[in-house]
Amino acid sequence: MNWRVYKEELIHTGKELVDLGLVAATWGNISIRLPKNQGVLITPSGMDYYNINPEDLVVLDLQGKVLEGERKPSSEKLLHLTIYRHRPDVQAVVHTHSPYATAYAVVRKPIPALVEDLAQIVGGDVDVALYASPGTQELADHAVNALAGKMGVLLANHGVIGVGRDITEALRVCQLIEKTAQIGIMAKMLGEPVLLSDNEKRIMRQAYLFHYGQKEEK
Ligand SMILES: [Zn+2]
Repeated sequence: MNWRVYKEELIHTGKELVDLGLVAATWGNISIRLPKNQGVLITPSGMDYYNINPEDLVVLDLQGKVLEGERKPSSEKLLHLTIYRHRPDVQAVVHTHSPYATAYAVVRKPIPALVEDLAQIVGGDVDVALYASPGTQELADHAVNALAGKMGVLLANHGVIGVGRDITEALRVCQLIEKTAQIGIMAKMLGEPVLLSDNEKRIMRQAYLFHYGQKEEK
């Protein structure tokens, strides 16, 4: 099996992460769940996103066994695999170290869903997972717990996880988390941000899931 389309999508997303300023150099990582749980396609460890070719990507099974690829997989493979095992709805995972969101992760405060797009795509505030060392199963377990049923979470003193029903959505989650963190910090300089009610956030999430874009109104 060569899974060419998925490999191209993943490589393209890696370049977008760099272009959007969500990662520096080789940090961060991306994965896609292959159809019918045939495996998880993941970025190699420590390679420049602009130098990754399809043959550099690694395919793992959900337990972490290498099914395809010669490279060492991402050092955060446990994080990706644990999310896929716990969240059947998740088809892609993007992990970034973007600065504004990481500022919240450093003070260990959730990013409030202050604006419509974040409330819609994440499904509420972006919570902070308990601290654990990078690359550990403990980090993965804390991330899954804090993610709960939502689409984004912060890793304490570390960075951001965005998940999606496809890779485009997972990338958008990371992008909107960073944008909202920036808005939150700027808004604090101007005054006290007015928070949206839980009910309003729920309505926005439902609207996104069922009526957003070109979906037919029912
Ligand atoms: Zn990281």
